[in-house]
Amino acid sequence: MTDYSVVDRLISNNRLTREECLQLLAILDQDQVKKKLALEACRLREHYYGKKVFTRGLIEFTNYCRNNCYYCGIRRDNKGLDRYRMSEDEIMACCHTGWQLGYRTFVLQGGEDPWFTGERIACLVRRIKEAYPECALTLSIGEHDYPTYKLWKEAGADRYLLRHETASEDLYRKLHPETMSLSNRIRCLRDLKALGYQVGAGFMVGPPGQTMDHLADDLMFLQDLRPEMVGIGPFIPHHQTDFAGEEAGSVDLTIALLSVIRLLLPSCLLPATTALGTLDPLGREKGLMAGANVIMPNLSPTENRKLYELYDNKICVDDQADKCRDCLAGRVRIAGYELVTERGDFQE
Ligand code: SAH
Repeated sequence: MTDYSVVDRLISNNRLTREECLQLLAILDQDQVKKKLALEACRLREHYYGKKVFTRGLIEFTNYCRNNCYYCGIRRDNKGLDRYRMSEDEIMACCHTGWQLGYRTFVLQGGEDPWFTGERIACLVRRIKEAYPECALTLSIGEHDYPTYKLWKEAGADRYLLRHETASEDLYRKLHPETMSLSNRIRCLRDLKALGYQVGAGFMVGPPGQTMDHLADDLMFLQDLRPEMVGIGPFIPHHQTDFAGEEAGSVDLTIALLSVIRLLLPSCLLPATTALGTLDPLGREKGLMAGANVIMPNLSPTENRKLYELYDNKICVDDQADKCRDCLAGRVRIAGYELVTERGDFQE
């Protein structure tokens, strides 16, 4: 007979051992389990954040990348992609649009573009923080050394998103070239925490070769790192990568994992990701109803968005920023929540 006691233990302790993680993952496809977890996940997020769903204005400012992650559409070896790099003024114009729409958080995301040296990013951070001191500024530009992260923190950056991608050495090797390492990725996350950034980690659900054991490693890693934010989304193949013919990750599993993460890190900021909305038209709404509380509308100029194609069929590439906001506000309302544009800092 199936043993469901692990669900109750997670709900009462907000902790799991690795063994329990595996037990839970084995029953996570069962409706009654998902429902129970989602109910508790929503109760927790409402305890900390009420009905609010926070927005993060996303500016995808460069699609140049020195890395070659096998799953990613903007990897270096994708020669079939037009590359773009926004100028500082163009980035400032996006912030201005975001500001006028009410957004008080900007996320600068990009490939690891060597043109944007540590100093150039620091200048940009200073300029944005000077123009919008009350806004939280998040960087998501990959792996750098401690002095560089420190420079950016001192320039005024508040948060940093760097998904760990997978906490398992063997899966990490299947998804990345030899030049990259899991140990460096984790070193980065620990450096960022030590420097006082609010940190976002996370992983993809269902990349080629991922097993329940790997997911258990991811959950244990998050429980140990305790990041302020966790970004998870289904893997989606990109036609110009080695993984073009692979199957996409499961929407249902991603949604169930959102609930589990909410239970493990009760007050974390948890986005219902664009990847989730790409695979399922109601994916983000379902994510919110399972415990997610953040949405990341795109603020980049529409002509660039198609070129920031991490995976195929990415949604929201044609809508102007104001339309994006209105569309999301409607979706969030349907899910029973309220879209807000304030900074939305992490609650202890
Ligand atoms: N260069 C930055 C930003 C990466 S893009 C960095 O290294 O952190 C943001 C996230 O998109 C990645 O962390 C990855 O988890 C996700 N991503 C990349 N390719 C994807 C794909 N094919 N399907 C789903 N998510 C993908």
